Amino acid sequence: MRGNHPDESSGRTAGDQKFRTLGGWVEKPDDLQPELEGHVAADVIVVGAGFAGLSTALELTALGAKVVVLEKDFAGFGASGRNAGYLAGGQGLEYELFLKRVGHEQAKEIVRFYDQGVSYVEKRLGELGIDCDYNASGIIRAGVHPSQEKKLRESMRIGVELGSPGEFLDDAAMRARGIPPAFLFGCYVPGGGTLNPGKYVMGLRRAAIQAGVKLYENTPLLSYQEGPTIQCKTARGTASAPFLVLATNAYTPQLGLLQNKVMPLKVSAIETEPLSSAQLDSLGWPNREGIVTSHFTMESHRLTARNTLVLTTKRLRYVYGAQTPNDPDHAAYRELALALSDRFPTLRGLGIQACWSGYISFAYDALPVVGETGAQQNILYTAGCSGHGVGTQSLIGHLLAERIGGIEHPLLAALRHKTPAMLPDPLQWCVMNLALGAANRLDDYTNRKARSVT
Ligand SMILES: Cc1cc2nc3c(=O)[nH]c(=O)nc-3n(C[C@H](O)[C@H](O)[C@H](O)COP(=O)(O)OP(=O)(O)OC[C@H]3O[C@@H](n4cnc5c(N)ncnc54)[C@H](O)[C@@H]3O)c2cc1C
Repeated sequence: MRGNHPDESSGRTAGDQKFRTLGGWVEKPDDLQPELEGHVAADVIVVGAGFAGLSTALELTALGAKVVVLEKDFAGFGASGRNAGYLAGGQGLEYELFLKRVGHEQAKEIVRFYDQGVSYVEKRLGELGIDCDYNASGIIRAGVHPSQEKKLRESMRIGVELGSPGEFLDDAAMRARGIPPAFLFGCYVPGGGTLNPGKYVMGLRRAAIQAGVKLYENTPLLSYQEGPTIQCKTARGTASAPFLVLATNAYTPQLGLLQNKVMPLKVSAIETEPLSSAQLDSLGWPNREGIVTSHFTMESHRLTARNTLVLTTKRLRYVYGAQTPNDPDHAAYRELALALSDRFPTLRGLGIQACWSGYISFAYDALPVVGETGAQQNILYTAGCSGHGVGTQSLIGHLLAERIGGIEHPLLAALRHKTPAMLPDPLQWCVMNLALGAANRLDDYTNRKARSVT
C-alpha cells in the first residue's frame, strides 16, 4: 500500500505518520469563542459542545432560555467531530445485550428512539441550513463470509420485529446494486445514510452562536456544586444556573459521574487519499451506501463527498482507568489498512491520508444512559450512546430541553431503565481485554476464511 510500507525498526508503517489529533473532518475554528472569565449567570449551563450539547443548547434557546455552554477544547473536538458520519437508526443495534433486560415493549420504544434520531437530524439540517454532504442512501449491514449470514438474518429479524425496517439482500441483489464484491450479502436499511460529521457539528456550532447561545471554548468545567442554583467552576471563572446538563459523553466519568455506568472505548479511523475516476469506477457502488459489516466488532466502509474512503472501528480499546488520552492507536490503524486491502483489492496502492481516534461511551447493555441527579434532580446527563450517536445524541437535545421545560417526552421515558453496574478497574480492564481480544480472534478467523475464498 502506498505510504504504508512497514518500518522494520519500529514495527510502524508510514501510514502511522498520518495521525491527526483532531480527526479527519475538523480544524480548530478561526473564530474560537473566548474562555470564560469572571462570573456568568444563566437559565441552563450545558457542558460539552458535541451533537448533544449543541442540540440541547439550540433547543433550549428556541424555548427562550438563556444558555451558557462550557467546552473544554472547541465545539466538535470530541466524538462528534471524529466519527464515521453514519446517520443510522435502530436496525443492527446490540439487541442481545438489552432485549431480555428491558422486555419487548420497551425495546420497541428504544428502537423508535433510534429511528426518530434519523428523521430529527434530517429535519434539523433543513431548518438550520446545514450543508454537510448528507447522502440519504440508506445503510447496508453486510457479510464478508457465508458464516456471518445466520447472525445477520437473525439480527435483522429482531430489528424488523421491533419496528425498524430492513430488507435482506442476497448476492444477486448486492451485485445488482453495484456493491463491491467483498460484501457478499446484507441487510439494507432504507432510512439514514452518511454525512460529513465535521460539517454537521460545525453547522450546529454556527447556528448556536447565531441563536445567541453563549459558547465558551477552551473552558473545561473543573467542578460543580449542586443546589437549587448550581455553581460551576472553571479555571478563570464561574457560572451559575438552576439547571446543569452534562453532555460530556465518554468524558463524564472524569467529572465523577456515571463511573459505574459507562466506560470510554477508543474507536479509530483511517481515511484514504482521494480515489481517481478509474479507482472509483473499479468499485461500482453507484449509490454510495454506508456499509458496516456483521463482525463481532464491525468494520465500517464509506465513500465521502471528497471521494476518499473512510474506514472505522474493527478494533476497540479500553484505556485503563477510563482515561481518554488523545493519542494514536497504531495497531488499530494497521488493522484498518488491512481491512481496506481485504475489502477493496482494486485499490491496492492507494495511500492513507489521515488516521485518528476518538472515544465513545459504552454501558454493558449498550443503551443510552440518560437521566438526572442531585437532590433537586436539576443535573441532567446523557452518555452511553455507544457508536450510534449521530442521530440519538442530536435528538436527545430536544428531549432534554423539553424535560427542563417540564415535559417528559415518551421517548425520554422509554430510555429510563436500570443500567447494569460496571466492574471497577483492574477487573474491568481485564474483562474488557478478554472480551475484545476474543471478538478480535473470532473476527480474524472469519477474515482468514473470507481471504481464502477470494
Ligand atoms: C471513530 C468514531 C466513529 C464513530 N462513528 C459513528 C457513526 O458513524 N455513527 C454514529 O451514530 N456514531 C458514531 N460514533 C459515535 C458518535 O460520534 C458519538 O456517539 C457522538 O458524537 C457523541 O456526541 P456527544 O455530543 O454526546 O459527545 P462528544 O462529541 O464526545 O462531545 C463531548 C464534548 O464534551 C467536552 N468535554 C468533556 N469534558 C469536559 C469538561 N470537563 N468541560 C467542558 N467540556 C468537556 C469534549 O471536549 C467534547 O467536545 C463514532 C465515534 C467515533 C469515535
